[in-house]
Amino acid sequence: MTGFERNRSIFANKDALSESYQPDELEERDEEIADYMDALQPIVDGWEPNNIFLYGNTGVGKTAVTEYLLRMLEADVEAYDDVALSVLTLNCNTLTSSYQVAIAMVNALRDPGDELSATGYPQQTVFTKLYSELEALGGTVLVVLDEIDSIGDRDELLYELPRARANGYLEQTSVGVIGISNDLQFRDQLDPRVQDTLCERELQFPPYEAPELANILASRAKIALTDDACADGVLNLCAALAARDSGSARQALDLLRLAGETAESADAEAIEEHHVEDARHKLNAERVEEGMRELTVHGKLVLLAVVSKEAQQKTPCRGRDVYEEYQRVCDSATTSPLVQRSVNNHLADLRMFGILKATENRSGSRGNYHSYELNVPFRSALEAMGDALPLAETIEQIRKYAKRNNVL
Ligand code: ADP
Ligand code: MG
Repeated sequence: MTGFERNRSIFANKDALSESYQPDELEERDEEIADYMDALQPIVDGWEPNNIFLYGNTGVGKTAVTEYLLRMLEADVEAYDDVALSVLTLNCNTLTSSYQVAIAMVNALRDPGDELSATGYPQQTVFTKLYSELEALGGTVLVVLDEIDSIGDRDELLYELPRARANGYLEQTSVGVIGISNDLQFRDQLDPRVQDTLCERELQFPPYEAPELANILASRAKIALTDDACADGVLNLCAALAARDSGSARQALDLLRLAGETAESADAEAIEEHHVEDARHKLNAERVEEGMRELTVHGKLVLLAVVSKEAQQKTPCRGRDVYEEYQRVCDSATTSPLVQRSVNNHLADLRMFGILKATENRSGSRGNYHSYELNVPFRSALEAMGDALPLAETIEQIRKYAKRNNVL
């Protein structure tokens, strides 16, 4: 056995590829940054802040740009004695209602030991406590609610908070809310009165295209990787794969990091394109596993039905055919099947998770219907199913079909 030895052949600073790293410079977002700065300008001018609603798919720089601009704003308003700015940032991804968000905000503003318990108050009481914490701060308070879409339709706080001053709850404090959403539909399902106030300024971040991702990767690679750690074409490949799939910088950076780890553990001198391909495969498998953890047992059985159709080379196939296969799968699991409408809902969820892909077909008089197929590699899906369902025999059977049909 040999001891530990530092390995710095690929990574110079791996932390620069981690989720929590805050880049000093942001690439390719000049226009969005200009609009964002414009929306924040009233704070610098000493007026009431705008409420801002920022949306875009995951990984398009919403959080990074917001953090970057607010750091800059906080530093720059130091120059003006009549501006007292506080920023309160909250990630709402585990909070599923206005109530929970309000409790979390109160607790972020209170000293440790003085926190509210998570339940047991009427909602309006929590809001009142929140107003008194905000009022104690005075000046301008920017409240950043990141991943706000997780509160769903329990959005009362988004109505109340921007109106707190007009409604007489606040005198010393002006509140501006920045709501950030990964879900493009969230805005449309908000109560129209909430839309009116919260979306005073709307900013949209589009997905990145391949050349943009290539620049983002290049500037990050300079910090994160050693010189010559990347073979030609590697950054472009990561950028192209991520652009084709999601347009997410996070996905592109994850690919590069994982490809680097793969190269490192293979003792390669540099990251090659095949390391990127391996990394993509691993990330896909992770995505399926992550999506699958969210699925109910029947969600998993519906997915297994599609996997089974794919093993027989019978995809894309209609919902009806998936349903028949699903009934067979339920049979082998000695579980009673759900009705077809519920299975259709599961198919819609699987699409949303990116595990399935659907194409719409027109069939004249009978209207349109969808055809489903896997949107992830067959092998990843089958492996994930093997871990998630106690159906060894059925899965072995599917594996055999797949081998016979050269799907595997
Ligand atoms: P979102 O909040 O939209 O899901 P993030 O802001 O978290 O996305 O960005 C995902 C990752 O990509 C982060 O590591 C971030 O630093 C990086 N990133 C996103 N956009 C840029 C950019 N324009 N320039 C440099 N890095 C970026
Ligand atoms: Mg984010």
